[in-house]
Amino acid sequence: MSKENYYKLSFPSRSVNESFARMTIASFCMQFDPTIEQINDIKTAVSEAVTNCVVHAYPDSIGTIYITATIKNGVLKITVKDKGIGIPDISRAMEPMFTTDSGSERAGLGFAVMQAFMDKVKVYSTPGKGTRVVMTKTIEQG
Ligand code: ATP
Ligand code: MG
Repeated sequence: MSKENYYKLSFPSRSVNESFARMTIASFCMQFDPTIEQINDIKTAVSEAVTNCVVHAYPDSIGTIYITATIKNGVLKITVKDKGIGIPDISRAMEPMFTTDSGSERAGLGFAVMQAFMDKVKVYSTPGKGTRVVMTKTIEQG
């Protein structure tokens, strides 16, 4: 059976909101009978994308993070968008262990994790304007 539905949310880039975003997207997905493993994969990917907005997109201020989740014919598509500083070199940013963080806190593995846990990850960004991360994953329907 073909099911279509979508979900939208926006919230300030405070780190306390990261778990809220992760949980609400997971809840949205529940109606499509995902496996526990799929839900955990989705939560992990959303968490990495949102954390990047909090930490990198709006480094010295609080901005807005926009998330949409759509599902069509068993394919989940999640978009995480910010209007922050943007990424000058996307392919470099997506290389495992690349980070612009000067401290020792960041491993530079966020995009690698998103790619490992989702089927596809696409990044669109304009310096000074913001970044959009689009992730898709097939969810088997029961
Ligand atoms: P980790 O995710 O392991 O804590 P990280 O955040 O540095 O470390 P990635 O998530 O892979 O690693 O991101 C790589 C780099 O891409 C970041 O260091 C940052 O420079 C840039 N970046 C990622 N997301 C954004 C964003 N939304 N806005 C601006 N820059 C970003
Ligand atoms: Mg990261």
